[in-house]
Amino acid sequence: MDLLQQIPKVDKILADSACRRLLAKHPRPVVLAAVRRTLDELRTAARAGTLTSADLDPSALGAAIEQRLTAGETFSLRRVVNGTGVVLHTNLGRSPLAPALREHLADIAFGYTTLEYDVATGERGTRYAHVEQLICQLTGAEAALVVNNNAAAVLLVLSALAAGREVVVSRGELVEIGGSFRIPDVMKQGGAILKEVGSTNRTHAKDYCGAITDQTAMLLKVHCSNFAVVGFTAEVTVAELAALGRERGIPVVADIGSGNLMEWQGIPGMTEPKVQEYLAAGVDLVTFSGDKLLGGPQAGIIAGRAAVVNPLKKHPLLRALRVDKLTLAALEGTLRLYRDERQAWAEIPTLRLLRLTADELKKKGQQVLRRLRRQLPATVQFELVPGISQVGGGALPLAQLPTWLVAIRSGLLSPGELEAVLRRQPVPVIGRIAKGEYLLDLRTVADDDWAAVVDGLRATVA
Ligand SMILES: *Cc1c(COP(=O)(O)O)cnc(C)c1O
Repeated sequence: MDLLQQIPKVDKILADSACRRLLAKHPRPVVLAAVRRTLDELRTAARAGTLTSADLDPSALGAAIEQRLTAGETFSLRRVVNGTGVVLHTNLGRSPLAPALREHLADIAFGYTTLEYDVATGERGTRYAHVEQLICQLTGAEAALVVNNNAAAVLLVLSALAAGREVVVSRGELVEIGGSFRIPDVMKQGGAILKEVGSTNRTHAKDYCGAITDQTAMLLKVHCSNFAVVGFTAEVTVAELAALGRERGIPVVADIGSGNLMEWQGIPGMTEPKVQEYLAAGVDLVTFSGDKLLGGPQAGIIAGRAAVVNPLKKHPLLRALRVDKLTLAALEGTLRLYRDERQAWAEIPTLRLLRLTADELKKKGQQVLRRLRRQLPATVQFELVPGISQVGGGALPLAQLPTWLVAIRSGLLSPGELEAVLRRQPVPVIGRIAKGEYLLDLRTVADDDWAAVVDGLRATVA
């Protein structure tokens, strides 16, 4: 009880010199709130018997209040260093955008724009027009539309084309992506009736044929993005399904997940089919993500035959799923880079990072190590070790990307402590621990990021 009574009152703390200094820098209500919360914490500690008289020292109190204030000052959503080697890390925001878009994005963000204004006629335009032609050019589609994400794209397509009617899907394709997107659940949400055919490992054309009735609204093919079925398997190809749909007059839709437009030669396991191939095989409509292999912003792209896509543009649900000007600016900018294949490989970070070879990464690693050793005391040690990076984002689970990692050892901290300290830096550094080592994957750490790693490591030795 003794220490509890010694905890100073708010007014006394506010009058202290430490607090007066803070009041000169921060708004009074913000300082007051920090003081109150700090005092609450001290009272709790006093009752628990964990408070010491040193905690009540005016300079310790001042430091505790200041720490609270600075913690409240940093943004919650901020840049991190991705040392995990997972290129499309959903928790870290999937695809970083191409640096070439920086200036244009700032222009669009801070000014008025042509979002829904047609400068040629001076009349109202549509926001989807800014990307439709590009999508069509790149994929071979006749018409296209963009919504909030691929989950929204699938929901819109089901709601518009199949509400109250049946959708035929293979049992092997009833996928769950990232825990919150499940084909059977989206189907229910869209008001469609799921008609499963085939078995988990094998589905044949005759299974689809047998399931078609006058209630069938759609044949749906879902790409098994995040898992693989191996062994005794059979699936109906996209071309076969498209032919069946055409013969019976039923739209064929493919949810292809990744949105890959490129040829990935020479990378083991990179067997992702291209959007163009689906459309060339005759499916009526595809949906895919903007921020997976495409390397753009979060978005869901719907592309295909005009007769199937255009009615979606008038569906009332579209208003709830629509994208804003920043998404459209980032998507238009990304798609423009695809017009020149060499430029796409060079400037879209997702494509560039996935293509880095082990040799290139090792060379980069040797430079990084020289720099780290120059900038940090010898108590922190570095070594290059080989490993494997992942594509991530629920794409290409079997792709093995050989890489090099920087193993960091500190004489003062365990790998677990190192991980925690680096993660709590102003620019958080996210690494991983494997086989008792703290590791940063050279593939996903950008050249500019190493300064933040150095700052973080300096804080661990301080
Ligand atoms: C990733 C994925 C989705 C969900 O896409 P989001 O853009 O994350 O909403 C849906 N279907 C498939 C097949 C996917 O791979």
